[in-house]
Amino acid sequence: MTIAFIGLGNMGGPMAANLVKAGYEVTGFDLVPEALERAGENGVRLAASATEAVDGAGTVVTMLPSGRHVLGCYDQVLGAAAPGTLFADCSTIDVADARAAGQAAVAAGHRALDAPVSGGVAGATAATLTFMVGAGEDDFAAVSPLLSTMGRRVVHCGGPGAGQAAKICNNMILGASMIAVSEAFVLGESLGLSHQALFDVVSTASGQCWALTSNCPVPGPVPASPANRDYQPGFAAALMAKDLGLAAEAIRAGGVAAELGLRAAEIYAAFAEGPGAGQDFSAIVNAIREKS
Ligand code: NAD
Repeated sequence: MTIAFIGLGNMGGPMAANLVKAGYEVTGFDLVPEALERAGENGVRLAASATEAVDGAGTVVTMLPSGRHVLGCYDQVLGAAAPGTLFADCSTIDVADARAAGQAAVAAGHRALDAPVSGGVAGATAATLTFMVGAGEDDFAAVSPLLSTMGRRVVHCGGPGAGQAAKICNNMILGASMIAVSEAFVLGESLGLSHQALFDVVSTASGQCWALTSNCPVPGPVPASPANRDYQPGFAAALMAKDLGLAAEAIRAGGVAAELGLRAAEIYAAFAEGPGAGQDFSAIVNAIREKS
């Protein structure tokens, strides 16, 4: 089966490479020449446009920054895809945009689902992502083998938009926990505690979480974390600010008393307005230290 893969950035690049490794024929497109070049080195056949990429594809996977990009891309390619093509959007976008994109695909005679991911660039590279899928039963069954090639867990969360709803909730936890872990390191510094000692305790105690043990915001304890390579993403702070913005909108719309989620959105929005926007989201520790 031929897959069209649109958006070959930090996440999409390694995800497409894993599809190639599993034997799928993948035709890819990205606006950035360097991303395309890297994908080509990993066996992705390169297209000159998104429209060219979807020509002859049975499934179209998108991994784009935001809802605006996904809707714009669907606008371009829906008319060029063969009738009945399965559109799987893996980007993190808001629930309303996900439903609008899905409806546009269905109106054009296709099938569509939302399948955002968790696990970061390391999970995309190692094919250990968790996929959260919003789809009807048939489309979920159809897409599961493909997603299993790029991830370890594929969870059916409900109908269209339900995958994005789960993703927004997950990233609200992640944003708030990264701030909490970073505050603890800076508090530890002021109390004369070494990073390693705090890590050794918390990683095996009740404060243990992914933000600490996989994406540790200080260099040293977790050699693979972005803190050890000058906070190169990874997961850019601007994308975390976007996701928390989506969560904040949903919190307000639903009248939910999620005060930490709203505060985390404010903290990352302020951070992403400055030079930290392009850094990994764990660089928030430096902002906390500077303000302290
Ligand atoms: P990225 O910026 O590295 O990649 C996005 C790519 O899309 C870029 O290469 C860009 O050139 C390309 N693009 C934009 N518009 C395009 C268009 N019209 N046609 C073709 N290509 C286009 O971002 P990323 O880190 O790969 O994240 C992608 C999505 O995955 C985002 O929605 C993000 O929130 C989500 N996500 C990221 C991570 C992470 O750790 N980076 C983890 C989970 C989910």
